[in-house]
Amino acid sequence: MQLQVLGCSGGIGAGQRTTSLLLDDRILIDAGTGVGDLSFEALLNIDHVFLTHAHMDHIACLPMLLDTAFGSRAEPVTVHATQASIDVLRRHIFNWHIWPDFAAIPDSRNPFLRFAVMEQGDRVDIPGGHITALPALHTVPAVAYALHSDDGCIVFSGDTADHAPFWEAVNQIDDLSALIIETAFADQDADLARTALHFSPGALLNALGQMQHETDVWITHLKPADHALIMQQLHDDPAQGRRFARLQPGQRLDF
Ligand SMILES: [Zn+2]
Ligand SMILES: [Zn+2]
Repeated sequence: MQLQVLGCSGGIGAGQRTTSLLLDDRILIDAGTGVGDLSFEALLNIDHVFLTHAHMDHIACLPMLLDTAFGSRAEPVTVHATQASIDVLRRHIFNWHIWPDFAAIPDSRNPFLRFAVMEQGDRVDIPGGHITALPALHTVPAVAYALHSDDGCIVFSGDTADHAPFWEAVNQIDDLSALIIETAFADQDADLARTALHFSPGALLNALGQMQHETDVWITHLKPADHALIMQQLHDDPAQGRRFARLQPGQRLDF
């Protein structure tokens, strides 16, 4: 399988796109502004969207993806998310005020948008593998995802602060290929990171003590103003033997 990074920034601006990953050709993991770079043909290929949570930077392009593909696809698009996230999307986005309710058009028996509830621990089989929702800790209900192919597994944290059940779940994966984890704020904003339930470098370095794998760690969701500083603060810790790298838009991870 191949995971392509469409967006991995904590903000926008030239060259910056918010969280979205494309798994092979038909599955999106989150639907931030990175989705907007896909061609029309590539947008029509999207059958499934797995959402970590309903914050704007992770769903921004979902409404417009549906609007763009509507009428050009025979099959509906399925959005997998927790019941809490689905409730928020229904109430606040697909409510005919912000955007049409694609779960009711062209009619509610054959809608273009289908929701599928996926809670922590749930597994969905996909061609060539499966996806499992893992525990995460954020200001709204959120999950991480383990993306399993026949040859390995990539864990994507979504937005989270330190959360023991997340690490316990990661440690149970015996073929982990890579960990993609957020570090939204630099250390001088550690208080803000704690309040917003995001990682800062010091908090991540502490938390990684719970991970038993030697796997490389890819950093995502960095605030644009502090990209370089966040990576410097991660690399500066002399006790760490881990390799950190900043996830890059356009990057492809094979696993
Ligand atoms: Zn969030
Ligand atoms: Zn976010």
